[in-house]
Amino acid sequence: MINQLPARVWFVGAGPGDVDLITVKGRDLIARADAILFAGSLVQSAATQWAPAHCLIKDSKEMRLEQITDWLIEQAQPGKVVIRLQTGDPGLYGALIEMVQPLDKANISVEVVPGVSSAFAAMACAVESLTLPEVTQTVILTRVEGRTPMPEGESLQELASHHTTLCLFLSITLLSSIEHELKAAGWAEDATVLVVHKASWPDEQQIIRGTLANIRDKCREAKINSQAMIIISPTLGARHWPDLKKSKLYDAGFTHRFRRAERISNKEQS
Ligand code: SAH
Repeated sequence: MINQLPARVWFVGAGPGDVDLITVKGRDLIARADAILFAGSLVQSAATQWAPAHCLIKDSKEMRLEQITDWLIEQAQPGKVVIRLQTGDPGLYGALIEMVQPLDKANISVEVVPGVSSAFAAMACAVESLTLPEVTQTVILTRVEGRTPMPEGESLQELASHHTTLCLFLSITLLSSIEHELKAAGWAEDATVLVVHKASWPDEQQIIRGTLANIRDKCREAKINSQAMIIISPTLGARHWPDLKKSKLYDAGFTHRFRRAERISNKEQS
């Protein structure tokens, strides 16, 4: 499939940090790349580890949007494999469309290879589930208003009023307003909060568990003020619940496409 190479610029999700969490497709593309522009230190090792010797590798840390797209356009010569490598998934807080529009204008085709988002890596390393039967079946991926304003109807208080799982990106310096808005939305002071710093990074990952009331102090003590995922969810800690509701999928009395319900004897029913 990759042999056809229909696109000239590939936006590749590098995953949350652990180089092994890039997709096979993403790694294969890097292995034949001619030019890679990566976004910050989080994804540098994926680029340098898998790229061929001749590949031009550049950090976009100090580049403005226009410089980034100019660079990609310049590199995107016929037959070249040009990659924009981004953390997690490119479609989450990745400025993807801002970069695609100038490429569209320059008649350069684009493809996106998804990546493992840090929201999923954070839940995975803490052995938590984003959804649980009869607890919550909904996940909200969002951020708190800081220098970037939130659109109408998307204040944390409004979103939190649903009492579903909340994954907060880009918000670790805003823990006091998170506490304030969640309490205003009816969450208890002792609601569990999970903070994961550098999820999936070997030797650097930190998992902090606390409550709305104390998570800020715990993060301050642990000196966590960047690269962190904040998760607030009624599912947190479910691993230790004695009375967990089981999912219908594996229930003996539930028929679905691949399995008929077993007949339950009178004795079992009573
Ligand atoms: N596209 C990325 C998000 C980019 S925005 C994704 O899908 O994960 C950057 C924010 O993502 C950070 O402020 C932090 O909240 C989160 N983040 C990225 N990598 C992380 C990691 N390894 N551990 C925890 N949070 C991470």
